Formats: sequence, C-alpha cells, structure tokens
Amino acid sequence: MLIEVKNASHIYRQEQGYKALDNINLTISDHEFIGLVGHTGSGKSTLVQLFNGLIKPTEGQVIVDGIDITKDKVNLKEIRQKIGLVFQYPEHQLFEETIFNDVAFGPRNLALSEEEIYERVKEALDLVGLDFEYFKNRSPFNLSGGQQRKVAIAGVLAMKPEVLILDEPSAGLDPRGREQLIELLDYLHHQQGVTIILISHRMEEVARLSTRVLVMNQGRLVLDGPPEEVFSQVERLREIDLDLPEITEILWRLKEKGINVRTNIFTIPEAVNEIATELRRLKPC
Ligand code: ADP
Ligand code: MG
Repeated sequence: MLIEVKNASHIYRQEQGYKALDNINLTISDHEFIGLVGHTGSGKSTLVQLFNGLIKPTEGQVIVDGIDITKDKVNLKEIRQKIGLVFQYPEHQLFEETIFNDVAFGPRNLALSEEEIYERVKEALDLVGLDFEYFKNRSPFNLSGGQQRKVAIAGVLAMKPEVLILDEPSAGLDPRGREQLIELLDYLHHQQGVTIILISHRMEEVARLSTRVLVMNQGRLVLDGPPEEVFSQVERLREIDLDLPEITEILWRLKEKGINVRTNIFTIPEAVNEIATELRRLKPC
C-alpha cells in the first residue's frame, strides 16, 4: 500500500488567512513506522486525515495504491478499512452498550459472517491486552480511561488495517499505559507487518519506534528522515522550538561541554553505556 501526497495544500476557511497544510509532498511505503511530530496547530491531524480521504485537500492530490482518492466516485469505504485511523481521545467515540459491540461496529459494516466478527473482536481485544471473556459483555462506560482507550484502539484493529494511523494515542495515559501501547505498536509493526503512522509529542517514543520521522511546522513538512538524522538537526529543531528526546538532549549538552559522546542515542541504557565508556576513556582506572 503506497500513499503519495502531491503538492497538497489545505485551507479550512478562507477567512483564516493561512494554510493548515502548505504544499506537502510525501510518499509512504509498506512497513514504514512513521513518527509525525510538530507543535500544536502545525497541521499533523489535518495531514493524516488526507491519507484516508476524511479531508480532501483544497489543492493537490492524494494517491493510494495508484488511485487518486481526491476524485469523486472513489470507494472511500475500502480505503478507510485499509487505512485505519485512531483519533485523538478515541474513547470519546465509544457508544455501544457492550465492549463486544463497540469493537464489532467496524467489522459489522464489512458484511462479514458473525463467526468472523466474533474472531476479530476476540483477537483485537487480545492484542490490546483486555481479557475477552471478562470484558466482552461489560459496558465500555464503566472502564478506566486507559481501558476505554484500549477498546477504541481494538475497534480499529478489528478492521485489520494495512496502515494504522494513531493521533496522539499516548496522551493522558500513565507510564504503564504508555509502555503497553509502545509494545503493541512494536508488535503490530514487526510481527504483523502493519505500516504505522504515529503522531506524538513524546520524542523519546518517536525516536525509539520510528524508522522515519516527519517534522511539521506551520503547515509545512520541514524535516523528513531517519530518527538519527532528524534528531541531529539540533539547530533546526531549536529554531522551531521542538524538543529532542530528553536523553539525546543530555548527550548534546555533554558534547557541547567537550565530552566526546555520540548523540545519535535515544534510549537510557544505551546512553548510560556511552557515557560510561567515554568517562572510562578520559579517566582510566
Ligand atoms: P495539529 O494536529 O498539528 O495540532 P491541526 O491539523 O489540528 O494541527 O491544525 C492545523 C491548523 O488548522 C491549525 O491552525 C488549526 O487551528 C486549524 N484547524 C484544524 N481543524 C480545523 C477546523 N475543523 N476548522 C478550522 N480550522 C481548523
Ligand atoms: Mg492534532
């Protein structure tokens, strides 16, 4: 599944006087894990809604598997099954009486057999770590926020999308919830070959998971590359006031103080190792 965005711009309302998206060019291939970052208002949510046709750009094209989905008469239902989108705070959209029915809502629109729907709901709840037997007949409204988010994500997974887009899925989760989410995304990407597009404010999450990082600023795509490359553009990131992953920031500060550590490191254990090695080299015991 290839997603191509060509010269796409988007204006919500003429009177706003600026473009929410400004001449975006981009190709996303199978099995990529894309981290999409940028300040609030930079256009991230607008951009991802182009990918499955929820938003039609005011100008430009969006081509999915060779089909221009901005044209009339395109089967958007099929596109939306293949490109699943988990909205920001997706739990606000839960509405069925039971968790089973909520997760089954999408698959039921695909005209699948009841057996197939049952299997899909079970599998999706297993994936997000909710016990099927325990949860299936309960109301989604009696769950914790973190569990509700899992149900909402399961609803999208039950569609078996080839591309999974998540708009700030870890916002408001506690550290354990965030870790479970990271494990799920890593599993879907590596074990099931799902292409993932993750919008996140947490740079360490993006750096750890992504094969490619996209940086948006004021409707423009300003950086696009592997995490090592993007997070080494320190000046550029500072200009647009974006953070580095915390641990990477520490390594840069050490480097600026003359301690010759590598800075293309995004995890704490690796950083500890690097700093220890360098200190040993400086001060052999
Ligand atoms: P992000 O997801 O990076 O925070 P958005 O894509 O939501 O950015 O927003 C990009 C710009 O478009 C912002 O200036 C925002 O205010 C504006 N915008 C977003 N949604 C709408 C809408 N439904 N109507 C009008 N303006 C919008
Ligand atoms: Mg947004």
